[in-house]
Amino acid sequence: MSIGRHNDRLHVEQCPVDALAERYGTPLYVYSRAHIEAAWRAYDDAFADRDHLVCYAVKANGSLAILQLLARLGSGFDIVSGGELERVLQAGGDPRRTVFSGVGKTVAEIERALEVGILAFNVESEAELERIDAVATRHGVTAPVSIRVNPDVDARTHPYISTGLRENKFGIDIHDAEAVYARAAAMPGLRVTGLDFHIGSQLTELEPLADALSRSLGLLDRLAAQGVQIEHLDIGGGLGIRYQDETPPTPAALADAIRPLLAGRSQRLLMEPGRALVGEAGLLVTRVEYLKPGHRDFAIVDAAMTDLLRPALYDAWQRIETVTPGNAEPRRYDIVGPVCETADVLGRDRALALEPDALLAVHGAGAYGFVMASQYNARPRPAEVLVDGDQAHLIREREALADLWRGEHLLDRP
Ligand SMILES: *Cc1c(COP(=O)(O)O)cnc(C)c1O
Repeated sequence: MSIGRHNDRLHVEQCPVDALAERYGTPLYVYSRAHIEAAWRAYDDAFADRDHLVCYAVKANGSLAILQLLARLGSGFDIVSGGELERVLQAGGDPRRTVFSGVGKTVAEIERALEVGILAFNVESEAELERIDAVATRHGVTAPVSIRVNPDVDARTHPYISTGLRENKFGIDIHDAEAVYARAAAMPGLRVTGLDFHIGSQLTELEPLADALSRSLGLLDRLAAQGVQIEHLDIGGGLGIRYQDETPPTPAALADAIRPLLAGRSQRLLMEPGRALVGEAGLLVTRVEYLKPGHRDFAIVDAAMTDLLRPALYDAWQRIETVTPGNAEPRRYDIVGPVCETADVLGRDRALALEPDALLAVHGAGAYGFVMASQYNARPRPAEVLVDGDQAHLIREREALADLWRGEHLLDRP
């Protein structure tokens, strides 16, 4: 599709990846505009038969140009911090299509979100309800709130990215939710508008999502019986992508699975996909610095866990291939970075034909890639390029060394 080989040379759309690496240097993130737009449209089209809003989860990849593309398509946004809100605004996103998730919203973040007029706060605790009520009352406004319920379903994904079990820190236990809604409805600074959940990420099955929805609809009916009318239902994000041999459900399959559950209901449907929109649209391109044969064969590359953390953090597997064919004998390599940590691995035991200086591409790097990058070991963060047909746009410059100490101060006394 938008990322593939032509004449044995890896391309993103019509741009050969080796040429991009020459022009912009490595490590380098490269994204396909066409892929992102097609993924967003697939989501939007899948739910075309009802009132809905696709709210892209900014935390998956918050680069301004990517937010701009999605804003132009009419996307909404799901944010988890005041910083993400400002990114959405900078990129031309619509605050009235923005929902604010996250367990730790500060007073300043709440004030700013009220000032710009977001669509809803996705509230994760009673203490947060009280805080939003107090802030809104102090400013003489009412805050639209949705309550994030924890439906207590097992998303059957990696424990670090599973969020819908009772033992997780997210949301309000669905068994307590009626009482919490009653409290919220009585708070003068709040307008209760929604019900939301997000059970986890990289979901490869629909059943947990459908379960969570059924439980939420039961709650919705009990709330209606108490006179609490819910205007929108937000089913979160979480659809997986193909990193290895997964066959994650498509947005259309998700829509088909939940359509019968929603029959006869008029609530607006919101969803918060992140990874599914951008994950497969991106590559991390890196160059081999050294080959180090031995008990294990290592390929030491110029990208590290500081550029792509998922393999180190979750033991995640991402496909790695050479960008152009080489003449070397294939061997099994551990692909590692230069950082002084044993966890600094991009991939283990990969059969690759590598010469010194070979270029490698790590797939599935469009989501939870650059956003998790750090400067550990005083490494400037990489550049990002967005490919659009045969054009490449530098959407983020590679950090300069001076960026590493921007804002730092030497002591001015002996
Ligand atoms: C992380 C997150 C998302 C996006 O998850 P993906 O798996 O990337 O789709 C959506 N909603 C909330 C509340 C989140 O925390």
